[in-house]
Amino acid sequence: TYVVTENCIRCKFMDCVEVCPVDCFYEGENMLVIHPDECIDCGVCEPECPADAILPDTEEAAEEFLELNREYSEIW
Ligand code: SF4
Repeated sequence: TYVVTENCIRCKFMDCVEVCPVDCFYEGENMLVIHPDECIDCGVCEPECPADAILPDTEEAAEEFLELNREYSEIW
């Protein structure tokens, strides 16, 4: 799965949401998140993010944000 990380906070761009083929972006408290079970790992959103906030969960920086992505996306 891909994970939205720190750089997304207060970012106003929604380019990622528009390109996601499975609509698995959700709004968290102050950032967007990706539902880890809905993401099909296509990678299309990663280069679209102007803040470089989207990382694959294999990246170390993504680890601490994975649970937050799950938590916020399951509120809806
Ligand atoms: Fe959506 Fe693909 Fe990004 Fe996953 S990797 S959030 S499926 S665009």
